[in-house]
Amino acid sequence: MDFFSTKAHSPNHSISSPFLQAQNISLVVKREDVLHPQVSGNKFRKLKYNIEEAIKNGNHKILTFGGAFSNHIAATAAAGKLCNIQTIGVIRGEELAKDVSKTLATNPTLRFATEQGMVLHFVDRASYRQKNELEFINELKAKFGEFYLIPEGGANELAVKGCEEILDKKDEQYDVICCSSGTGTTVAGIINSSKKNQRVLSFSALQGNFLTKEIQKYANTPNWELISHYTFGGYAKVNTTLIQFINSFNQEHGILLDPIYTGKMIFGIFDLIKQNYFAMGTKILAIHTGGIQGISGMNAQLKKKGLPLIDI
Ligand SMILES: *Cc1c(COP(=O)(O)O)cnc(C)c1O
Repeated sequence: MDFFSTKAHSPNHSISSPFLQAQNISLVVKREDVLHPQVSGNKFRKLKYNIEEAIKNGNHKILTFGGAFSNHIAATAAAGKLCNIQTIGVIRGEELAKDVSKTLATNPTLRFATEQGMVLHFVDRASYRQKNELEFINELKAKFGEFYLIPEGGANELAVKGCEEILDKKDEQYDVICCSSGTGTTVAGIINSSKKNQRVLSFSALQGNFLTKEIQKYANTPNWELISHYTFGGYAKVNTTLIQFINSFNQEHGILLDPIYTGKMIFGIFDLIKQNYFAMGTKILAIHTGGIQGISGMNAQLKKKGLPLIDI
């Protein structure tokens, strides 16, 4: 439990480039990705109060849900090990259970989770869709015993509370705060801790506008906006343009971005700057929410498709 107890602040890294200078825009990246080597980025924030609550309830078993390359699954497994809590990961895709040793040999995320002591339970997509239904949860309780449940992506009120600790005093100087969103939990925490004169932009990693409702559920103030046209076709979809952008950003600034969330957000920020979306002199803070663990899994898929790989 100790590693959650300190009030962690992540370093801010200023991006200098002739392009930004010419546009008179300042861009700073908040390195939540370096908060912890295994429980990276926003997942650290989202787990903190959930694990505290589980322990308070005397519950030393956590069950949660995720896809085969989920950052949330990897983070929960690592946090569980560090806090002496048994973790169970309900994973989407029964085909992965056919040959588990092959699955673990080819999937770095699930291999890592297993190494951290997480018990994996593979379910088909139809069952996975019932993940919020009482009947399905009771079936899981019959199988695994009592547990503390964390929803898919770690999305709940206690996660929002943890994400309210991402911004600190020194971040009040920024005009615009950008954050990539999957469930919208992280950005809701950022919105709640932002100042009224700041604007928060949520860059959706998924197609559609369902996030508006999700963010509204938890956000206390209206100073935010959803940007949903930098998804590159949908969740976890990538193309050569995005990969090349991630690689050159890393070469120029020494910051590795992930292809599902932060790579698309930073690409979007640069594109919006090009379109003069921001007023001259705007100070932007972009949150690097982590997700680096997913790159090797993505690279394996890129290799199969004959696409360029992300340099790590
Ligand atoms: C999970 C994740 C997100 C999305 O966070 P939400 O709270 O679900 O919106 C963003 N970036 C990275 C790197 C993530 O792993």
